[in-house]
Amino acid sequence: MAQTQTDREIDRSHMHVSDQVAIEITDMNKWFGSFHVLRDINLTVYEGERIVICGPSGSGKSTLIRCINRLEEHQTGSIVVDGIELTSDLKNVDKVRSEVGMVFQHFNLFPHLTVLENLTLAPIWVRKVPRKEAEETAMHFLEKVKIPEQARKFPGQLSGGQQQRVAIARSLCMKPRIMLFDEPTSALDPEMIKEVLDTMIELAEEGMTMLCVTHEMGFAEKVANRVIFMDAGQIVEQNEPTEFFNNPQSERTKLFLSQIL
Ligand code: ADP
Ligand code: MG
Repeated sequence: MAQTQTDREIDRSHMHVSDQVAIEITDMNKWFGSFHVLRDINLTVYEGERIVICGPSGSGKSTLIRCINRLEEHQTGSIVVDGIELTSDLKNVDKVRSEVGMVFQHFNLFPHLTVLENLTLAPIWVRKVPRKEAEETAMHFLEKVKIPEQARKFPGQLSGGQQQRVAIARSLCMKPRIMLFDEPTSALDPEMIKEVLDTMIELAEEGMTMLCVTHEMGFAEKVANRVIFMDAGQIVEQNEPTEFFNNPQSERTKLFLSQIL
């Protein structure tokens, strides 16, 4: 197998990220029944990093990021998010989920609630934020994703790109320290991809720690400080984008890039 580079070996001097660890995954393995879906994952994410995760379908990308907010449970090794270890202790799971926002391919908005209600539901009922304050925060983030005029509409009345921006705004209303994106643009028509990527670029520029599963390699080149390639449940290779794209090390990475670029 080609030599793999661990995150600790990468020269991060030019990447403008802090030395504060946001996520530390150590010797982590996960099985679905007898299927070994994640193998010996070691990954350290520093605050302010923008990481793009790519790899063939079925390689475990979604499962990996779902483990980070415990939508999936790992079996061995450890995952520590902002100093909190993810175990079966539900207190810790709640704490981590309050720090980690997640945006999915399918926007997962509540169809029977207005945009504004989608954004204020969790702050009001989970965080006990007063309604007025929750609505002000919601409007602030709707302005940020550039659709404040859609606040009173229902998700079904919005375009896909607008719905995904609502989903991003909804996550931001919970004031996360880390954002996870799982193929946020792959269900969108081409003309709507840019508006969602632009929103993500803005978040990155503000210093949000981001892990994005995406095949938008233009986004990776522009925004990511690190690209991770996964195959068959492993982190096969990782590097800063220019090196990753121009000088892939493993045969599997080369094959993957030849298929998507
Ligand atoms: P990716 O996001 O890279 O396409 P996934 O993490 O979704 O990959 O899936 C990795 C593998 O695990 C696939 O083979 C998939 O079929 C399998 N898998 C995903 N979720 C489950 C599940 N809940 N139960 C059993 N197998 C699953
Ligand atoms: Mg996936």
